[in-house]
Amino acid sequence: MKKLLIILCLFASSAYSQTVDEIKNHVAALCKTERVTGTEGCKTASNYIQAELSKLGYTVDLQPFNKANNVLASKKAPLETIMVIGAHYDSVKGSPGADDNASGTAGVLALAKMLKDRTTRHTISLQFYAGEEQGLVGSQYYCDHPKWPMNKHLFMLNLDMIGYAQTKGLVAPKPPVDDVLIDLFKKYPFAKSITFRSGPGSDHESFAAFKIPVVFLHTGLHGNYHQKSDTPDKLNYAGMVNICKYALDLVLVIDKYDVPNYSMFEKLPVKRIPR
Ligand SMILES: [Zn+2]
Repeated sequence: MKKLLIILCLFASSAYSQTVDEIKNHVAALCKTERVTGTEGCKTASNYIQAELSKLGYTVDLQPFNKANNVLASKKAPLETIMVIGAHYDSVKGSPGADDNASGTAGVLALAKMLKDRTTRHTISLQFYAGEEQGLVGSQYYCDHPKWPMNKHLFMLNLDMIGYAQTKGLVAPKPPVDDVLIDLFKKYPFAKSITFRSGPGSDHESFAAFKIPVVFLHTGLHGNYHQKSDTPDKLNYAGMVNICKYALDLVLVIDKYDVPNYSMFEKLPVKRIPR
């Protein structure tokens, strides 16, 4: 029994460090060039994302607009209601954009791998947007040209700047947050500091405008935001893996509902993120 436990622990920790390495590699690859929408660097990043999704066995669908494109992939399930997991992959001029937003892009790629062999009831749509820095252009384009009717979208989870997780001194929040989320917050106390229902500032806004429940994962603004100094060496990779595990559990909880569960999200904090 003990032996089995040790073997299981070793297996779990090697899977963990493997995910850390994979996320690190994604961030390093994405940050080789700036990814300003419409430039060659943005195209290179789009090609990288496509190649990684194809390696995992996903069929990739490009959605072109304004000299750039969104990268979409889906995991079909019995129900044609959609859970979106998205991140923007473009960056601003003059910044490698490690936290903003190679971090979220790498997170969605990690989730693509985690979800690959899992069965869900609802179809999962993995979405990588360009044009966020120009004013949420990519996510807005998707919402105006969705792959499924917008009223079939159950939920949207947005990962934008997840590289600066701080895990010290956080405790699980008390009600009125919904019971389902309380359980998740007990398992992942750090999530209290990164989970927002909405608030302005990123691609989830495009979906919230259609009254789709959204959750925004974001570890906060910092001095390197939109600067040359937003480099890969500054990210908390172990923290990013924890955020991805939390995101996976969150998606699997939401998968149990047949229709959008607004009450689950409505009591989450709405934090205003200054731009
Ligand atoms: Zn961003």
